[in-house]
Amino acid sequence: MEISYESTRGGQKGVTASQAILQGLAKDGGLFMPNQFPRLDKSLKELAPLSYQETAYEIMKLFLTDYTEEELKDCIAKAYDSKFDTEEIAPLAKADGTYFLELYHGNTIAFKDMALSILPYLMTTAARKNHVDKEIVILTATSGDTGKAAMAGFADVPGTRIIVFYPKDGVSRIQELQMRTQKGDNTCVAAIEGNFDDAQTGVKKIFNDKELERELAEKGFQLSSANSINIGRLVPQIVYYVYAYCKLLENEVIKEGEAINVVVPTGNFGNILAAYFAKRIGLPVKTLICASNENKVLFDFFSTGTYDRRREFILTNSPSMDILISSNLERLIYLSAGCDAQTNRELMRELSEQGSYQVTEAMRAFMSDFYGGYASQEESGAVIRHIFEDCGYLIDTHTGVAAAVYEKYRKETGDETVTVAASTASPYKFAPSVMAAIKGPEAVKGMDEFAVVDALSALSGTPVPQAVEEIRTAAIRHSRECAPAEMKNLVKNVLGV
Ligand SMILES: *Cc1c(COP(=O)(O)O)cnc(C)c1O
Repeated sequence: MEISYESTRGGQKGVTASQAILQGLAKDGGLFMPNQFPRLDKSLKELAPLSYQETAYEIMKLFLTDYTEEELKDCIAKAYDSKFDTEEIAPLAKADGTYFLELYHGNTIAFKDMALSILPYLMTTAARKNHVDKEIVILTATSGDTGKAAMAGFADVPGTRIIVFYPKDGVSRIQELQMRTQKGDNTCVAAIEGNFDDAQTGVKKIFNDKELERELAEKGFQLSSANSINIGRLVPQIVYYVYAYCKLLENEVIKEGEAINVVVPTGNFGNILAAYFAKRIGLPVKTLICASNENKVLFDFFSTGTYDRRREFILTNSPSMDILISSNLERLIYLSAGCDAQTNRELMRELSEQGSYQVTEAMRAFMSDFYGGYASQEESGAVIRHIFEDCGYLIDTHTGVAAAVYEKYRKETGDETVTVAASTASPYKFAPSVMAAIKGPEAVKGMDEFAVVDALSALSGTPVPQAVEEIRTAAIRHSRECAPAEMKNLVKNVLGV
């Protein structure tokens, strides 16, 4: 079955997967969606014994139908190799009655590696297939983890450059160091004076700037995106939900056909949307539990049907989820409107002009597989502590939000369905917050970041990941800062346009 891609705002249709990946964002500002959902063409029992790489092929071939078998397998082999510190790529760990799907065993110890390890290969293959003669410039807004994972993926990839914007005071110290020490002559990272939403809005504005597009084209550049607005990010993320189900099946935790729940710590709504896509292609998933931190715009949306970004932006200790404009929700809105681009376009206009929109009862009914919950820093800290004390298992602050929301969900509903929690970052990436949750804030007061890392290692008996060791002594290579209004100029400046 041939799948083509169309914009959620109606301006583009019949786009091939490789062209959609190259473009990133649709020309009308919308996001690319498959024109139909394919179905798994093997039973889950047949998929159960497959390796991660084999599973990846079985899923990705369904969506990326203009890539040849050889091209896809080549991209997969290059992406999911010894960069990951375990052959399983995404292991499952049981603690406190929950199956934690550890998505942080890649280069930069956050789940963004799952898709960003393969995106550069998908992108350069797409460029070759479409005879692109321009240099591809990846523009990326990051709430902390995408930036590093994207730079690690694209560093020194011929024919590409990458420019990353992160909120100056909105990322953890380790996240900042990871980005500012990034090597590669084609990489650039800048701190902006604003929050993640400012960075993402600025990047989207640059994408929609037709004059800039012309100027860049004249100089031999073409823009693309490594954010989860790129369908090339979303498709590889479907894989690990299927893989997790298969491992549960193989280990006889569930029977074939038995539905599971997933709980996902959510920011831009990309990861949980991938779980929903998995459901749509035939994975038995009952409830998709969308876990937010104190920036609980999605909780409010799922409880009321009104999306309202007009509120205070709260900086929390799960910074990768500090987001008020969850871009990928647009894809669910589009589906819930029966793929009516006009309805979606109108709602997105209201969001940008008035700061809010309301969906119809029918659209809400369409989304009833989703359950929205949120947890405060105190609640997620308490769960991090109790899972460590009771099970000796360490989770990071984002996964802590998911675990806390899941605990509340279970109490509220009595639902004991087998549940997979997306574990999105290594606890070492947020060591001071994790340590403070377990031992109290006094225990880390005034301590150097790396001293806390060592203390966490001693406490838990787990080794410090290579990604953290690397930045202990690495030289700072990037010191750019700019105001959101200056982002376009910075891009031109960096590219010499
Ligand atoms: C990006 C990120 C999230 C949020 O994922 P979305 O796909 O944006 O919803 C959660 N946790 C961590 C550690 C992340 O890096």
